[in-house]
Amino acid sequence: MQVNKHHEKVVIIGSGPAGLTAALYTARANLSPVVIAGPQFGGQVSLTHEIENYPGFPGGSGPDLIEIMKDQAEKFGARIDMDVALSVDLSHGSPFTVKTGNSEYLADTLIVTSGASPRLLNVPGEAELTGRGVSYCGTCDGFFFRGKKVVVVGGGDSAIKESLFLTRFVTHIDVIHRRDTLRAEAALQQRARENDKIDFIWNTVVEEIKGDDKGKVTAVRLRNLQTGKTWDHPTDGVFIFIGHDPNNSLFTGQLAMDEHGYVITDKMMRTSVDGVFAAGEIQDPLWKQVATSVGQGCAAAMAAEQWLAAREGAAPAVPEIKAAIES
Ligand code: NAP
Repeated sequence: MQVNKHHEKVVIIGSGPAGLTAALYTARANLSPVVIAGPQFGGQVSLTHEIENYPGFPGGSGPDLIEIMKDQAEKFGARIDMDVALSVDLSHGSPFTVKTGNSEYLADTLIVTSGASPRLLNVPGEAELTGRGVSYCGTCDGFFFRGKKVVVVGGGDSAIKESLFLTRFVTHIDVIHRRDTLRAEAALQQRARENDKIDFIWNTVVEEIKGDDKGKVTAVRLRNLQTGKTWDHPTDGVFIFIGHDPNNSLFTGQLAMDEHGYVITDKMMRTSVDGVFAAGEIQDPLWKQVATSVGQGCAAAMAAEQWLAAREGAAPAVPEIKAAIES
């Protein structure tokens, strides 16, 4: 197959809010960035049915917001490559090599915004029944559970938000949580507690997901962590929202990461490799909001722009960056 080779000033890996913001800022700096979209254009936000807490966007779907961000970045010259980064080589310094299915990029600077993916329960039956009653996305799959009973696993914002969304379709939801207090924000908790369709099963974990001979979910095997009691709880679907893991496989052994696999950055969004910046959930174990990812994407873009300017002989705006380049 013919591979297209390109030398770019800025390549951004990932097309969520962090990536598209970095694209907007570097495009407006005349750097004509390329965004490698990744397997899910828009990242996790594209799977979110409603965004209510992004300032200036009082309500609307995740895909709506992503479309607006994309159009705004493209208006100033950002280019979106609807491909997936398959390998990255940072070993020789800038320019870095990024290979996709169809292209090979040489990137003077790289901005990593590859985000995070839903965590798995890793219990028997989960892998086999994924797409057959096991789901990690209410927005994508809720419709298929009209008139059915489901369970939701988790106690954070995602679990409660998705439970509220699923009440549009299902007759009943049991939220299964391993503790007896929710991690979700207070406003979401209140809405869930007031919703007649939602009940909670506390201090309980899923040990197995069971299916019938047609390969459809029929029950979850539960265990109460306080009493040790186990039982089968009949259900038509299992929605799992127990957090996320950073999408770091392209960078293992190349960028410094913390013990949970998040890429380590400093305040300038610099990584351990000079000329490589990171923003959004790949480097943020804490906040993980559209608003924080946007801010980090903006900072990474400005730092990358200053890094390029410094390298090209223009006066660096931030002495810290100059020192980093010279060291
Ligand atoms: P999260 O906040 O990390 O919550 C994960 C939940 O799953 C926790 O309740 C945790 O229990 C439980 N859990 C983790 N591993 C488990 C396991 N192996 N078995 C059973 N339960 C397990 O994850 P999230 O809800 O996906 O949210 C991630 C981030 O995105 C958060 O910062 C959140 O604020 C943000 N977010 C925000 C919104 C919003 O609208 N503001 C919406 C979605 C996500 P414990 O509580 O016991 O640890």
